[in-house]
Amino acid sequence: MKVLVINCGSSSLKYQVLDMTNESLLCKGLVERIGMDGSVITHEKIGMDKIKTEVPMKDHKDAIEQVLNAVQDAEHGVVKSMDEIGAVGHRVVHAGEKFASSVLITEEVIKALEECVDLAPLHNPPNLLGIAACQELMPDTPMVGVFDTAFHQTMPPESYIYAIPYEYYQKHGIRRYGFHGTSHKYVAERASKMLNVNLDDLKLITCHLGNGASVSAIKRGKCIDTSMGFTPLEGLVMGTRCGDLDPAIVTYIREKENLPQGKANEILNKKSGVLGISGVSSDFRDIEEAVAEGNERAALALKVFAHKVRFYIGAYIAEMNGVDAIIFTAGVGENDVTMREIICNNLGNLGIKLDPVKNKIRGKETVISADDSRVKLLLIPTNEELMIARDTYNIVTGRI
Ligand code: AMP
Repeated sequence: MKVLVINCGSSSLKYQVLDMTNESLLCKGLVERIGMDGSVITHEKIGMDKIKTEVPMKDHKDAIEQVLNAVQDAEHGVVKSMDEIGAVGHRVVHAGEKFASSVLITEEVIKALEECVDLAPLHNPPNLLGIAACQELMPDTPMVGVFDTAFHQTMPPESYIYAIPYEYYQKHGIRRYGFHGTSHKYVAERASKMLNVNLDDLKLITCHLGNGASVSAIKRGKCIDTSMGFTPLEGLVMGTRCGDLDPAIVTYIREKENLPQGKANEILNKKSGVLGISGVSSDFRDIEEAVAEGNERAALALKVFAHKVRFYIGAYIAEMNGVDAIIFTAGVGENDVTMREIICNNLGNLGIKLDPVKNKIRGKETVISADDSRVKLLLIPTNEELMIARDTYNIVTGRI
């Protein structure tokens, strides 16, 4: 069976087609500037050059139509007709407390996800638009929703309850939800395979370090804590997001800077993180270049980022009473040799020892800890699309 994976943003859309008989990727692509001038689709059939086509797309339905044209294209397509696509898997950011695993999309599921829009006003509406567009264009194809929050639903209440009046949890659902769940789950499963140890016998800390970043504590295959919270703003320092903060700072800045409604939120989401500290960029490559040129604020940004990752690693070791492996994934985790070095430096007393030679590698599944390190350090490129395709395939074929 071939599965189409859709990850719909507000003005962009990523897609892949995978052949689930051997889990191979057949094609992938990106639609940008949906609903704007200069909408463009970039399509890549695996083994061929990328093709970029500018075509007006006024909404998500137009965008999905272009995706369907691309995957059926005589030269660059991967199917002769859409009948060959057995199912569509949709990434959905927020499922609140409603779903702890992926589900077949029904009218009830859509209603439940609409009720979560308040919790993820930027993400869930475009996710829902993508589902609606696909349902209209492929009415007979089963659709599956795969949720960023689902994997974290196993957290115990002491990990997810905030110390604010309890009725805000009851009335408004204010609690830690956690995000990047599909990625944390994928790398945990890969780690179990790489180590040849059953997930039930492992304590793992998974570090998803990309433009957005989060750490999870995974015990016996279940998430017991994660650094992102009610929204993806909490936890680690990120590209442009502040991460953990004394909440009093928000009202203080608002007053001191006389900020209009909504501005504080924008600053904490878009102008903070390593960008805010360094004043250089949200991209770690630019920051490291600036450090090489002697920029002290850029150096400080990297130190603050690493400090917070180490902070969570320590906290999760305490929570799980130990750790067997720490996993690095996503853009920074997979590629940034220097950052991994800074994070793992001087943790010998915790049994964590990086091998500086093995660490000099990018984007490849490998062990990077020293042979005498009690805790294994693993580099595992994430693959959220494969996870979405797997869940989709397993659900529509009745395997789960
Ligand atoms: P992601 O959100 O997972 O796509 O990660 C994107 C981020 O990864 C970028 O903003 C960069 O900061 C970082 N990144 C990608 N490649 C490298 C690299 N070679 N060295 C350092 N950082 C990198």
